Amino acid sequence: MARSRIRRCPVCRAYTLRETCSICGAATVNPHPPPFSPSNKYLDILLKIRRNMRENKPGKDINTPSSSI
Ligand SMILES: [Zn+2]
Repeated sequence: MARSRIRRCPVCRAYTLRETCSICGAATVNPHPPPFSPSNKYLDILLKIRRNMRENKPGKDINTPSSSI
């Protein structure tokens, strides 16, 4: 795939091929950001947190009265 080198100045919104705008000198950005890709590390952390929350929830066995005499 051919990469488009076109960049865009966020200040004056002019398209250019340079990394700095030729008009105002600001750093240009890629007008086509990469598609959103969730990082596996972050997902893994989220899953671990969810598991811990489930395990830390008080079960029914904890609140059962032991004095049944
Ligand atoms: Zn500019």
